Amino acid sequence: MGEKKIEKIYVLWMSTGLGCDGCSISVTGATNPSIEDVLAGRLPGVPPVVLVHPVLAVEAGEDLIEYYRKAERGELDPFVLVLEGSVPDESIAEKQQGWWAAFGFDKQTYKPITTVEWLKRLAPKAAAVIAIGTCAAWGGIPAARNNPTNAMGLMDLLGKDFKSKLGLPIINVPGCPPQGDNFMKTVALLILAVLGLSPPPELDELGRPVFAYGETNRQGCPRAGFAEEGTYAQEFGAKECLLSLGCWGPVVKCNVNRVGWINGVGGVTNMGGPCIGCTMPGFPDAFSPFYTRQSEHMLSLRFGFLPGSIKKSARLNTMKTKTDKSPRWK
Ligand code: SF4
Repeated sequence: MGEKKIEKIYVLWMSTGLGCDGCSISVTGATNPSIEDVLAGRLPGVPPVVLVHPVLAVEAGEDLIEYYRKAERGELDPFVLVLEGSVPDESIAEKQQGWWAAFGFDKQTYKPITTVEWLKRLAPKAAAVIAIGTCAAWGGIPAARNNPTNAMGLMDLLGKDFKSKLGLPIINVPGCPPQGDNFMKTVALLILAVLGLSPPPELDELGRPVFAYGETNRQGCPRAGFAEEGTYAQEFGAKECLLSLGCWGPVVKCNVNRVGWINGVGGVTNMGGPCIGCTMPGFPDAFSPFYTRQSEHMLSLRFGFLPGSIKKSARLNTMKTKTDKSPRWK
């Protein structure tokens, strides 16, 4: 791909998964790099990037859908495909002769084209495929217990063995919503990889960029010193470790405490909120009810004097068996 001169790169965003558009809003707050930096060509060596986003696009209706039709016909090469929102199980809706999620119409039958159908048509033609947000990555809130749509993540639909044209698996940038810079950095690195200027971002076994999800929230938490001394907050607004108020930071892969929320400011425990695990495959069921001490917190709360190696091994076990595993994956 790096050999052909690339005049333009498209980022084709699908927001018709089951979601709330919160991921889109989060990305508009990115500063490093910002959407404006990428679209205005401020990344050295990068040609114009065209973002096709149903919420931000100037075009509407069939003019907007035409971008997706062109991508299907191979006329928008290269493009990065982004899904926001989880993937519903259309076989359930079909039994009622309906559909859960769709955009655009088939020009022959005038039936809506489902999100699932678009994903199957476009993903194999994309240079890279990104699932933004916990809904698209793992199922998220729409996949919580008792959901009627059997909602799932994009990897559940396309398979763990899926490979994009760049030879990459689905790239998951989870969070509800994800921190905006984590997404924009991933896109920027992928664009450089499409151009042959750098390797793609390093991914973990679940397709998460390691720069953002290689550490736990606790590892970047400014309150970790209190935890090390065994001093815990007794009420909201206190400065100590929030484990006592239900914080899941020790078993949640996320860098938000380290990088902040917007332009280095914010981040869950930085601002006094216990982490509720929104980046993890087990979210929300494995972390509910929120803001409540759970059995997993007791080891640290009661036996804070134990060596870190013992607590670390208990945490790895919790991640493996509960928080880093979707309830869908038996
Ligand atoms: S991951 Fe969260 S913020 Fe993003 S679409 Fe789903 S519910 Fe909304």
